[in-house]
This record gives sequence, C-alpha cells and structure tokens, in this order.
Amino acid sequence: MIEVYLDNGASTKIDPQVLKVMQPYLTEKYGNASALHSFGIDVKEALEKARKVIADSLGAKHQEIIFTSGGTESNNWALKGIAFANKEKGNHIITTKIEHDCVLESSKWLEKQGFKITYLDVDAEGFVNPADLEKAITPQTILVSIIHANNEIGTIQDLSKLYSICKKKKVLFHTDACQSYTKTELSANNADLITINAHKIHGPKGVGALYIKESTKIDIWQHGGGHEFKQRSGTENIHGIVGFAEAVKVALNNKKALQKMEKLRDKLIDGVLKIKDSRLNGPQERLVNNVNVSFSGIEGESLTGYLNEKGIAASTGSACSSKSLEASHVLLALGLNHEQAHGSLRLTLSRYTTEAEIDYVLEVLPQIVAKLRKISPLGRN
Ligand SMILES: *Cc1c(COP(=O)(O)O)cnc(C)c1O
Repeated sequence: MIEVYLDNGASTKIDPQVLKVMQPYLTEKYGNASALHSFGIDVKEALEKARKVIADSLGAKHQEIIFTSGGTESNNWALKGIAFANKEKGNHIITTKIEHDCVLESSKWLEKQGFKITYLDVDAEGFVNPADLEKAITPQTILVSIIHANNEIGTIQDLSKLYSICKKKKVLFHTDACQSYTKTELSANNADLITINAHKIHGPKGVGALYIKESTKIDIWQHGGGHEFKQRSGTENIHGIVGFAEAVKVALNNKKALQKMEKLRDKLIDGVLKIKDSRLNGPQERLVNNVNVSFSGIEGESLTGYLNEKGIAASTGSACSSKSLEASHVLLALGLNHEQAHGSLRLTLSRYTTEAEIDYVLEVLPQIVAKLRKISPLGRN
C-alpha cells in the first residue's frame, strides 16, 4: 500500500544520520554527564558540543541554551518562569489568539494565578499588527509571547519588528519557534526567549531547548541537582540532545531541501485550489512546508479519514485540536465561521516528500472531495 506522510507539522521521521549518532548514547556511552570518571566526561563533552551547535544556530552563547523535554516544557517555563520572576514589576502578559495550545493553556493557568492576559487578534492571514501590540503594552506588561511560524496555517511573524517594539517598551519577548526552526531565519537577536524542539526537524521526540538571553530574570521550575547551569535540574537526556544537535546540523547543511519543499508546496497549493469552492487558509508567502485548505460543505475529519484509507496521512489542523473535534481556534481567529473552520485540511511536507507523492495526492483528493460533497449532510450539490 502507498504511504504518503503529509503530517510533518505534527512530527517527523527521524533522520538515519541522527539515529546513528544517538545510538552509542543508548548503549556503551551510558555515563552520567555530572560524573567525574571517564564515562561521565565523555558524555559531558557530547552534551556541551551539542549545546554549541544549537547556540551557534541561533547566534547565541552556549550558556543561554537550556535543554528541556520539548516545546511544551519550554513554552510553559518561559511563560510561568517570566511571570513569577517579574511579578513585582507587573502582572500583565500579551500573547495572541493563534498560539499553540501549550501557550494558551499556560496563559489560562496564569490568569487563575492573578495575571492578566491580553490575547491579540490577527488579520485574515494570521498576522499580528505591530501597532496593536504597541497599543496593548501597559506599564504593567512584563512579557509578550508570539508564535513565530504558526503550526496550522504557516504564517510567519516579523520577529524583528515585534521585538523592537518590546525593547522600546522594556518588555521581555518570547517566541515559540518550533515550526520555523531551521526552516526560516531565526536569531537570538530577535527575542529574549526562544522555544525550539527536535521532533519537528527529524530529531527525536521528548527533547527541546529554551534560549534565554543572558541576565533575563526567570524563575526555576524544576529543582534538584543543579543541572543546566542550575536552571533546569535532572539528568540530561543525552541521546536526545545529541540527536537534536545532529538534526540541526543536517538541516542547516541542506538548504537546497528548503527550495525543493517550497516548490512542491506550491505545486500542491496550485493543484488543490483547482478544486471547486476551495480556499487557502493563511498567507501566500508562508512556511515552506505548510498547506492549509478548506473545502466548503466538507468536514476536515471526514477528509482525513478518507485520505487515510488511500494511504495519505494528513491532519485537520494541529494534532491537539484533531482529538477534540472542536473547530480550530486559529482558523476562527482568522475570521472563518465554524463550518469553514471545521472543513480545513492541513498538509505538511518534509525534505523527504517527493513529487510523485504530491501527484498522487492531487489525483486522489479531488475524487474524495467530490464523493464527500455528494453524500455530505451540509449538502452543496
Ligand atoms: C509541536 C509544537 C509544540 C510542542 O512541542 P513538543 O516538543 O511536542 O512538546 C509547541 N509549539 C509549536 C508551534 C509546535 O509545533
């Protein structure tokens, strides 16, 4: 059976080269990085080498990179850690309506702790208006958190513009860059805190990092033996960290893959938009691997089900919202109505995606849409 994986926004296949460099740390290199014998020293060296790769990729200092268990932990830590460390200064945080659930849920929790959160609107393509941000900042504002590339619709925010407003107003700026990391420009010059992870870039699951600009006031949430410059205790996930760094190296040494992805993405968009009553969600200029489309009269869940029967893995939006059958909060924020927001299909490519796979999707998808429209209770035809 044909297998076409177009859910790379949810997770990616591990690169064989990444797996290869990880393997020794699951077998013979099992020392604890804090140990003082040679087993530990070897591992500590690998840890610091990996940290340097990640730091260099962002133009950061090595001590500004703290490894975590992934994007969810980094986002939770950034929001909660900054909120509590700076609460003497103020209790106001600004984010957007199109964040990943882990930022939105952390924000809701902070509201229960007495913090005030502003959720900025976005325009019809998912962009935050910098003037809106500037207006929302008050003397009580301590943090702004805005997703870099949106995981559902691929909108890429202008970080340098947003950060310059925050700097002018002396407010800390965090960005969730899990989707954009290694796929578009990302630099420590454009934020005080940056969330990244490995499993969206052909690395292992369960590992990520938080970039924290030197001398940023942040509370520690994981106490213990003082690992990670006393910022995040716990024996380091060495095989994961080593794999993460290798995934970054491979991605950054293969910029051509981005051009190929972009070409295939555009072919897919052009082909899909030939289907009657379809619309592209998000901007024309978007993340290289992201396609998000709606078909009027059709539910995303039925579409992904039929696609799955044809061997095509796709999703309705984010992996999280597909569990709940709720309309996507991101599409609603763009101004789509509930019916339209339910009809969305997200197809996310990777460097492994081939033209033959895209051709296959473009052959199968119009047939499925036509079939569903015939039987749809929302009844278009
Ligand atoms: C995947 C993702 C996360 C969560 O990262 P995990 O490593 O899976 O916890 C957060 N934000 C965005 C934008 C993501 O795409």
